Amino acid sequence: MLVKDVGVCIRAVDYSETSQVVTFFARDSGKVGAIAKGSKRPKSAFDGPIEVFSHGRIVFSDSGRARLATLTEFEQQAGFMGLRKNLFALNCCLLGAELVGGLTDEFDPHPRLFESLVQFLKDAEGSKSKAELLALLILFELSVLKEAGLGPVIGVCANCKSALGAGRCEGYFSSSANGLICRDCEGSFPDRIRMSAKAGACLAELKLLGRSGQSELREVEGVLIAHLTELLHRRPKTAKYVLSNWREAVE
Ligand SMILES: [Zn+2]
Repeated sequence: MLVKDVGVCIRAVDYSETSQVVTFFARDSGKVGAIAKGSKRPKSAFDGPIEVFSHGRIVFSDSGRARLATLTEFEQQAGFMGLRKNLFALNCCLLGAELVGGLTDEFDPHPRLFESLVQFLKDAEGSKSKAELLALLILFELSVLKEAGLGPVIGVCANCKSALGAGRCEGYFSSSANGLICRDCEGSFPDRIRMSAKAGACLAELKLLGRSGQSELREVEGVLIAHLTELLHRRPKTAKYVLSNWREAVE
């Protein structure tokens, strides 16, 4: 069965001298792993080798979902090439893509997350500062978690539901509680990570992200990476390129 969709490549590895195995995140199909035969030949049906973040209309034959699909067409659109000029932006996007791959299942459609991913790549490409990129990444990570049904509790204490927010957030995050926790509850969660009041407030009130400095944003990102490491049972591979010393950021 041939399936037509629109997708963004989130992973590409060489399979042979001329072919690649690619993973697309597609609007209506979700994550799709496919073999792109002959993609590395000079005259391929895919406009040349397929790179991560290339996107456009795809056609693939779905071979019963137990095996890799076969990519038969890919009309690459222009766009996101600017990411290659800004290493930090590229690394933030690679982490975002890794999380989409790690937290969604094959052929499980998430059209809203697809739109968020495209918007995140556009915004990251146009972004000039590291602080802005970190804020975009944090918001995107939260939307991936939400779409995966794992959205952390951040506006109120995840345990007793008392309101957190500017001035009232004591700055603790617990993966086992799946969210921020207040000072009264922190003792019950041995896995809690202490955050500075400023970074805790940032996470409790996301509108503060855009106005925060790099150090608070690094701290929030460090907490999210620690949380994602718990959820995935491994540290995201690309995390070290975004926060080389992410453990320090949260300790
Ligand atoms: Zn509480």
